[in-house]
Amino acid sequence: MPILVMKFGGTSVATPDRIRRAAKRVGREVANGYDVIVIVSAMAGETNKMVGLVDEISPFYDAREYDAVVSSGENVTAGLMALTLQEMDIPARSWQGWQVPLKTTSAHGAARIEEIPTDNINAKFAEGMQVAVVAGFQGISPEGRITTLGRGGSDTTAVAFAAAFGAERCDIYTDVDGVYTTDPRISAKARKLDRIAFEEMLELASLGAKVLQTRSVELAMRYNVRLRVLSSFEDNNETAGTLVCAEEDIVESNVVSGVAYSRDEAKMTLISVADRPGIAAAIFGPLAEAGVNVDMIVQNISDDGRTDMTFSCPVDQVKRAEKAMLGAKEKGDINFHELVADTDVCKVSVVGIGMRSHAGVASKMFDSLAAEGINIKVITTSEIKISVLIDRKYLELAVQALHDAFELEKAA
Ligand code: ASP
Ligand code: MG
Repeated sequence: MPILVMKFGGTSVATPDRIRRAAKRVGREVANGYDVIVIVSAMAGETNKMVGLVDEISPFYDAREYDAVVSSGENVTAGLMALTLQEMDIPARSWQGWQVPLKTTSAHGAARIEEIPTDNINAKFAEGMQVAVVAGFQGISPEGRITTLGRGGSDTTAVAFAAAFGAERCDIYTDVDGVYTTDPRISAKARKLDRIAFEEMLELASLGAKVLQTRSVELAMRYNVRLRVLSSFEDNNETAGTLVCAEEDIVESNVVSGVAYSRDEAKMTLISVADRPGIAAAIFGPLAEAGVNVDMIVQNISDDGRTDMTFSCPVDQVKRAEKAMLGAKEKGDINFHELVADTDVCKVSVVGIGMRSHAGVASKMFDSLAAEGINIKVITTSEIKISVLIDRKYLELAVQALHDAFELEKAA
């Protein structure tokens, strides 16, 4: 029998009624002739609640116990989903991560999947079981402790199962009906995409579009798992949702597929550092050690052997970055006149695989920002993305202007 993976997010299993609604969808796919692997999240809000409890009891917690606690929400929904299916006379049972066993590294709180043996579940399918319900987000370390895959990790569980079992598709049921050209709360013209390439989705996911955990998209790209994002609150037909797939499977696409943003950015500038071999390493080494996620980097042309170095990072890491830089200065590893932090910036990016073969995207982007009187502070580009750092107060305006300039409301 062909295998289908169906993943239900927290809002899709938030109440017994919603679990029943999700189970009906599973029943339909069973009737269509699939063996189904269902991956469930915890009920909406449960994981947050447990993270809060851990913080309250032990602010500097033992990560192994954190995982033991926060993984438990998925155990509840897995069992409830299996019970619901049984009530519908569909042969089903639940698996916790360790029972599969979904083997991970020991990086508690952000473990990586190493292996998913399929024999256990396949044997049950062979015996007539039709649905395997698996608790998402959790696994087991080589030491035999429960691990979790990072927030939003059940998306990654779902894709990993689809890859391991050679599933025909991996359907991600969530509370939005697909991936949009931009955030519909910002631009009323945002349009749902029928298809999007893995690489574009990766850029959009890491740029703050929160539909899918970034790692799940990386995994889908590596193993060529066709991912469909769709709403569990609507009746879906064959073309519902957004298919995240290989570039070759997209016939027509716009040069730019989407406009992404990230609100909470900060820009930091080290003024007048010595421009010598090793200076970048002396700055970014300590920042990395301090756990600062540096994103954009710009080094100015040097004048008299001195230069300004600018970088961006999440706004809540500014204190950490300052401490690392002042520490390095005290040790004599670097020298600078001043460290200036601008904490009122945001990042806006246009993304599209079509950029590889089309010139002029950057100039169009800059023209349309200029027309709105928006000053660009930092620019970075990759093969399929152009990002700018601008004042945060212009975020909405910039997203709307770019969406209009690239006519994203129109399908290709
Ligand atoms: N329940 C976990 C979380 O809230 C995992 C998930 O839902 O994907 O992060
Ligand atoms: Mg999620």
